[in-house]
Amino acid sequence: MKLLIAEDDLTSRTILTAVVHKWGYEPIAVEDGAAALQVMQADDPPRLLLIDWEMPVINGLALCKHIREQESSDPPYIILLTSRSSTDDIVAGLEGGASDYICKPFQNAELNARLQVGNRMLDLQQELNNAKEAMAFQANHDALTGLFNRRAIMEAMERELERTKRNTQPLYIGMCDIDHFKTVNDTYGHLAGDAILQEVARRFNAALRPYDLVGRYGGEEFLILLNSDESHVQELFERIRKTIEAEAFVYEQESLQVTISCGVTQFSPPKDKRNATELLATADTALYEAKKSGRNKTIFN
Ligand code: GH3
Ligand code: MG
Ligand code: MG
Ligand code: MG
Repeated sequence: MKLLIAEDDLTSRTILTAVVHKWGYEPIAVEDGAAALQVMQADDPPRLLLIDWEMPVINGLALCKHIREQESSDPPYIILLTSRSSTDDIVAGLEGGASDYICKPFQNAELNARLQVGNRMLDLQQELNNAKEAMAFQANHDALTGLFNRRAIMEAMERELERTKRNTQPLYIGMCDIDHFKTVNDTYGHLAGDAILQEVARRFNAALRPYDLVGRYGGEEFLILLNSDESHVQELFERIRKTIEAEAFVYEQESLQVTISCGVTQFSPPKDKRNATELLATADTALYEAKKSGRNKTIFN
């Protein structure tokens, strides 16, 4: 673990560096607050800091304040080293952004223990951030396929509609539905159905361009959003349809042929005034046409 040491006194700095190195930290030692701030503004800054209060250029307290001004979901743990031991000073240090303080002169054992507290706090902070990230992912993604869930793809659609209003290229809204999926479930079981949904999602992701969007709209129904000019869009949707049809799906040694049908509508402002609900209804009508006229096809409406 990297540990920033900001201490203007050469002897103290040298001793601190040697001691924390012995404890397994990777010390980065600087001699004033300005140099410390530079380290903190570079890539991958240390998360554990040992900062002397009395330093030239930028003192320790001012340094704390500067560091706390930087927005971060993973703020560093700052231990202030100080020969000031009055309550007022300690309060000023903690209110200024220090996580903890050590009064000089101190025993190495105390420093070691306080660094370990810092480590524990940083570990907790990391765990909390990981949990928050996982929750944010779960809130936006479908658990089975890993695609955007209905809410997330609908939010994305609203954003795309707004963006398309400022663009020249139209937005294509495609509703794709697996053909005769009930039969797959009835014949091979629900788990086979789940595996197919996962593989369909994987193939969509492989066939789509990085800036296209796809979400699981409902059970076996997927919403695809892509920007394209009119001359390429048929080809794009053909690629999506074919990526499902082309290769059989394998589930427990069974080989299953799967196809999808898609209904697509074009949103091209400014003349097009439809909202999301109206666009989805049009795509749905086209999907219904595709189903009625034989499935495994894409109909544009
Ligand atoms: P069509 O070609 O007209 O779309 O026929 P279909 O059988 O695909 O359509 P239908 O709407 O009758 O059936 C959809 C089926 O999708 C029924 C439902 O059990 C299944 N399904 C929906 N969500 C899931 C899921 O998460 N897992 C599995 N295994 N099946 C699902
Ligand atoms: Mg000093
Ligand atoms: Mg279906
Ligand atoms: Mg359906």
